[in-house]
Amino acid sequence: MSEVRTRFAPSPSGFLHIGGARTALFNYLYAKACGGSFVLRVEDTDQERSTKESEDIILDSLDWLGIKADEGVREGGPYGPYRQSDRLDRYSGYTEGLIAKGFAYPCFCTSEELEQKQSRSKMLGVPHVYDGKCRNLSEDEIQTRKEAGEPYAIRFKVDPSEIVVDDVVQGRVKFDARLIGDFIIVKSDGFPSYNYAVVIDDHEMKISHVIRGVGHLSNTPRQILIHQALGFELPVYAHISEIVGTDRKKLSKRRGATSVLLFRDLGYLS
Ligand code: GLU
Repeated sequence: MSEVRTRFAPSPSGFLHIGGARTALFNYLYAKACGGSFVLRVEDTDQERSTKESEDIILDSLDWLGIKADEGVREGGPYGPYRQSDRLDRYSGYTEGLIAKGFAYPCFCTSEELEQKQSRSKMLGVPHVYDGKCRNLSEDEIQTRKEAGEPYAIRFKVDPSEIVVDDVVQGRVKFDARLIGDFIIVKSDGFPSYNYAVVIDDHEMKISHVIRGVGHLSNTPRQILIHQALGFELPVYAHISEIVGTDRKKLSKRRGATSVLLFRDLGYLS
């Protein structure tokens, strides 16, 4: 069997709380139990929410807990860089390939237009799915609009099908692709979306097991479609339960979550 490689991939938009620490611990322990490697990747493609300060807090928290990465932002390693904003040039090659093969297309819809359609779906009580307005634009029109400087995103084409996630914790979970619709893989600022970057990075970093909170299960069908379009082998998926607060809702910065570093400062042992 090939090497077990797990990863913890925090988005640096806050502190590390025990929910994230637990996910990191599961990844670390599984890699160590199998004689494999544990990778730390920083997912900072959301330019508005990501900060260097948060990255430092998260990495310091893991250090204090003794959850040491074999490869990562601070450690370096053979599959770096390990910070997504340092990897932008890698995503664009894949994007060109996806467009050339008809798996993806440029979308010129403005956020105002999309928000309006979204609120209409909400009013009607139906799930919001992109209506495919830019799916069949002619090459000429695409060229003209690009030349005119219109901003555009890149969308991934999702045709009707049933997408099956075989998860070692949750079992077999089926998703209806019609409820997903064509989704954005590259934002108009040129940054990849989470669902896109995660697939390319997991592949390039040779991640064998994706162990993460069950909140990400609904992202998995999108990621599987991208894996398939790019001809990548799927990792093993393990979506683990999330720690909830006394209100039974997921911990978040606004709800019951305490920074790991605060526990340290209060004198708790790691
Ligand atoms: N960056 C994601 C997050 O912080 C995790 C992505 C993943 O584990 O696939 O929620």
